[in-house]
Amino acid sequence: MSATFINGTKIADEIKREVASEVQLLKQRGISPGLAVVLVGDDAASSAYVNMKAKTCEQLGIYSRKLTIPSAVTTEQLLAEVRRLNEDDSIDGILVQLPLPKHVNKHTILEGVDPRKDVDGFHSANVGSLVLGHETLVACTPMGVMELLRRSNVKIEGANAVVLGRSDDVGKPQALLLMHANATVTICHSKTRNLPEITRRADILVAAIGKTAMVTRDWVNPGAVVIDVGTNKVSDRAQVERLFGNDEARLKEFEKRGYIWVGDVDERAVKDVASMLTPVPGGVGPMTIAILMKNTIKAARMRRGA
Ligand code: NAP
Repeated sequence: MSATFINGTKIADEIKREVASEVQLLKQRGISPGLAVVLVGDDAASSAYVNMKAKTCEQLGIYSRKLTIPSAVTTEQLLAEVRRLNEDDSIDGILVQLPLPKHVNKHTILEGVDPRKDVDGFHSANVGSLVLGHETLVACTPMGVMELLRRSNVKIEGANAVVLGRSDDVGKPQALLLMHANATVTICHSKTRNLPEITRRADILVAAIGKTAMVTRDWVNPGAVVIDVGTNKVSDRAQVERLFGNDEARLKEFEKRGYIWVGDVDERAVKDVASMLTPVPGGVGPMTIAILMKNTIKAARMRRGA
């Protein structure tokens, strides 16, 4: 068997087009959705992510505001900024780019965001609503995975789904979303015994562990749908060659940047056994930002009763 690759870039573009038309409809009704992105410090990767989010807003007609705050900020000062955005009626969504500096209390900041503007879906009120199966703002990456599955016509109801990873931002919400979609869900983590034995039972396997190419051929049930959330930077040429052989595109990318992004799944090995597989990059990654835009519109509609 040779897996079909799920094209996340194409599906994300489809969602962004839908969001852009929704924005136009809202504007006709006098509503201009707005997203505020808060960047603390000058980490290059975080700054690139924030710029990409602002650029996507612009492309879709969403008003965006970027707040750049020095890394010396205290928890109280940052909380005050977040509260100002909570009070600002032109802002429907607030995203605090993570990670925050170590001296800032992440929990206090994320809980300080008005749950109605919590487009990252990290606030405990939104997580609680997700647990109860109420309509709410849900974390972007696991929502993106659900969209990838649905738009690729994967049957979720009744499927055995295994989620590798139990983080608050990916694994836990992913498992809940799959359960609400009537899959039978198993959650694995670093203390799980006999991982391959469990993952081999999966019709749908979602890998979100942050371990380069750990999921290999004998972890996968023949015909399973494999979603690779992992995004791992590989800067060792020997490892790139071990994972991708003479793959010219990968080697060229490596020469250009000095690293490449690799998922939690050993793509070369798993593509011969899975029925569908998401590539890294170009699978889950582009979906996260598309869902952020979708969440911003959802937040605008819910808060403004539109
Ligand atoms: P995280 O917070 O570090 O959580 C990792 C999870 O994997 C934990 O639950 C951990 O178990 C589990 N784990 C770690 N090593 C394991 C092992 N050897 N066997 C089984 N389970 C193991 O990471 P995250 O934020 O969920 O992110 C996971 C990956 O997804 C990362 O590569 C990240 O970069 C990527 N990601 C991508 C996107 C995107 O847009 N594409 C978005 C978010 C994250 P314990 O709980 O027992 O420690």
